Amino acid sequence: MGTLIEELNSRLPAERIQTDPDVVAAYGQDRAIFERGGTAAVLVSPHSTDEVVAAVKAAVAANAIIVPRGAGTGLTGAANAIDGCMMLSLHNMTDVIEVDPVNRMARVQPGLVNADLKAAVAAHGLYYPPDPASVDMSSIGGNVATNAGGLCCVKYGVTRDYVMGLEVVLANGDVIRTGRETIKSTTGLDLTGLFVGSEGLLGIITEVTVKLEPAPPPPATAVAYFDELRTAGEAIQAIFANGLQPTVMEIIDRASLEIVERFFPMDIDTSAACLILMQSTPSDQPIEELAAVCEEHGASFVYHAADPHEGEMLLEVRRKVWPAAERLEKSLLPEDVAVTRDRLPELLEGIVEIAERHDVFIPTIGHAGDGNMHPLLVFDENDEDELARVKQAFTDIVELSLSLGGTIAAEHGVGTLKRQFLEQEVEPTHLAMQRSVKALFDPDHRLNPGKAL
Ligand SMILES: Cc1cc2nc3c(=O)[nH]c(=O)nc-3n(C[C@H](O)[C@H](O)[C@H](O)COP(=O)(O)OP(=O)(O)OC[C@H]3O[C@@H](n4cnc5c(N)ncnc54)[C@H](O)[C@@H]3O)c2cc1C
Repeated sequence: MGTLIEELNSRLPAERIQTDPDVVAAYGQDRAIFERGGTAAVLVSPHSTDEVVAAVKAAVAANAIIVPRGAGTGLTGAANAIDGCMMLSLHNMTDVIEVDPVNRMARVQPGLVNADLKAAVAAHGLYYPPDPASVDMSSIGGNVATNAGGLCCVKYGVTRDYVMGLEVVLANGDVIRTGRETIKSTTGLDLTGLFVGSEGLLGIITEVTVKLEPAPPPPATAVAYFDELRTAGEAIQAIFANGLQPTVMEIIDRASLEIVERFFPMDIDTSAACLILMQSTPSDQPIEELAAVCEEHGASFVYHAADPHEGEMLLEVRRKVWPAAERLEKSLLPEDVAVTRDRLPELLEGIVEIAERHDVFIPTIGHAGDGNMHPLLVFDENDEDELARVKQAFTDIVELSLSLGGTIAAEHGVGTLKRQFLEQEVEPTHLAMQRSVKALFDPDHRLNPGKAL
């Protein structure tokens, strides 16, 4: 058995292998704030499936751990280096292999950035819906491995709903193709579904076949201010109870409105408890109907616009929350919990109560139509007392979500950040089955051990 570097050198071109500690370190940390990456031995950046196979076989020969990495925009530590590991970065595999307008699908390499996939299919009049806010940075492979969500999930669903098939390099270097190209198939078990959201634990995704939609017409947009979180929650429930279908339904709480107005003044009503921002496809769902439900449920101000440019400007409030929080020049820890829509008011009110109880600044934005909230804990990392209060508030929000029948990780994944809460959500027999599946695919614990499960 050679060293990992010797095994890699014997199988791959030298330019795919990086050992410069600064370069390797730059790829060893995702965007999770509390989760610190270890020190990887090497960074490998393959250009093809064959090169991924070669890298995996080198790791097997040297008995080394592999951490797959897309663009490193994850928020849970899932792509963080483990001491002595091989970081396997897919960022050079960015080809659009095929766009097929007849069958409404595309085949791409995993390092392709989401926005580049959207642009490639838009040239054919087609639409790839999943739209995490990291759309301009995150890779399709990473989106699949985390089952990423975004703003449009309320109508279109999450990444899982658009993955038709995968090519995967397994932990021993074997290559499998999962899924189908036909719209229907009942052959065998759904291994594609198993790999979606698997956080690099089961195999390395080297090709993704995605389902596409016809490009929708420009959306119409509505905004509604509410003086109470509870009435906003009731309006959200009424919209769905009445069979209406927004394409986007976001909520921005008072603390978020205040920081946006402070750093990007745009005449926001900061006395409101929250703002609900909605979009719809006018031909399917008149925006006036969504606005009317908000009025009926006590909104203090409602406005709607058919003009897509005006709609874009209204969406700016939502887009500016994170940049405004960054202007506070403090550390930011985004939460990611979800409850069913009927429990949303309790979740929102509970988050406000937790913020007050622990004296932590927590502006909250979220995908209101999905019940998925992103409270953003803002704090000074050097203040030990505040840090302790932040960690407790973070835990309390997770436990609040669980107590309301919700989930600890709606769209960002588990990684290392949420692993301590896993057993509170997944019951023991179910978790044991999941760990057996991991052991079946990866008996030597080579792929991203210590993450997610
Ligand atoms: C500003 C910002 C906004 C964000 N907004 C959203 C949002 O709205 N919705 C949302 O869901 N997420 C959001 N995220 C989180 C993040 O962008 C997503 O989790 C994204 O899917 C990660 O993609 P990535 O390419 O960066 O993957 P990485 O961070 O590199 O990896 C994530 C996980 O996937 C695994 N992985 C990556 N590529 C592969 C592969 N080819 N094969 C096997 N495993 C692989 C890694 O091992 C790791 O476990 C946001 C992040 C930021 C920084």
